[in-house]
Amino acid sequence: MRVTLLGTGDTTGTPTVGCDCDTCEAARERGVERTRFSVHVENERVDESLLIDFSPDFRSQFLREDVPLPDAAIVTHIHFDHLDGMGNVFRVFDSLDVYAADETDPKTDKSVAETVRDDYHYLEPIEVHPTTPLEPIHVAGFTVTLVPVEHPPLLCYGLAIEDPVTGSKLSISGDTSYNVPEESREVLADPDLLLADAIVPAHLADYHPIGGRHETDDGVPRTFGTKHMTREGALALADELNAEQTRLVHVAHYYPADEAFEEPLAVDGEEFVLP
Ligand SMILES: [Zn+2]
Ligand SMILES: [Zn+2]
Ligand SMILES: [Zn+2]
Repeated sequence: MRVTLLGTGDTTGTPTVGCDCDTCEAARERGVERTRFSVHVENERVDESLLIDFSPDFRSQFLREDVPLPDAAIVTHIHFDHLDGMGNVFRVFDSLDVYAADETDPKTDKSVAETVRDDYHYLEPIEVHPTTPLEPIHVAGFTVTLVPVEHPPLLCYGLAIEDPVTGSKLSISGDTSYNVPEESREVLADPDLLLADAIVPAHLADYHPIGGRHETDDGVPRTFGTKHMTREGALALADELNAEQTRLVHVAHYYPADEAFEEPLAVDGEEFVLP
C-alpha cells in the first residue's frame, strides 16, 4: 500500500490566499504547501488506486505528485474542501466509481451519497455507490470501512483501508472532534499509519468563540470548538488507537510559525509505503 498525501491543509490551505502571517510566509520560504485535504492510496498488488476526497486542488495535486489517476474514490462529507474538486472528473475520466455513506443527514435530509449524486448529476463518468457505515466494502483490492465521526452540523466519516493480503492498514480520522464513537475506534484501531485531523494546537482554543471541549484531566482541550481535534486531541487519539505511525493533517495556518512545521505535522507530498 503506497499512501501519498495530496492535501494536508484545512479549508483555506497554507499559504492562505492574501495572508502574510508568519506561518504562511515560512511556508513560502520553505517551498512547502498544505493544500485542501485529499489522500491517494495505491494498491501496487492489483495496480489500482483509490482517492479519498475531491480536493478543490485536485488538478495541481495530481500534476505535482504524478500519481496514477484513481480507479475509485470515497467522499467523507460534503464540505467544500472535500467535495468541490469533483468537477475535475469532467473530460479526464471515462468512468469513476464513487463511494459515500447512505445514512440520511437530518441537517440536509439527504445522505452524503445523495448529495454527491444530486450536486454532480451532470457528471456522466461518476457512478455513486451508497455505502453503509461500519460494513466493509471491497474496492481497488482493499477492504474499506466508513466509520461515523463527529463533525457538527453535518454527518462525516473516517475510514479504515486494509489490504486483506498483506495486512497493511491505513486509518483516516476524517474531519472530527475528539469524540469518535467507540465502535468507530474499534474499526480504526491498530493502523500502520493514522492520518488524524489536527486543525490547531490546543492553546489556540481560547480564540474560538466557544473555546475547546473534551479536556484532559489537566484541562487541555482535545477538541477545538465542536468540529475538529486539536493537535493534542489527535495525538491522544493516535495513542488510544495504538497507531504505529501518525501524521497530523487538515492543519491550519493558525499554528504559530515555530510549531507549524514540527513533527508529526504533515505537509503535502509525503509518501508512505505500508508493510
Ligand atoms: Zn497565514
Ligand atoms: Zn469538514
Ligand atoms: Zn475539511
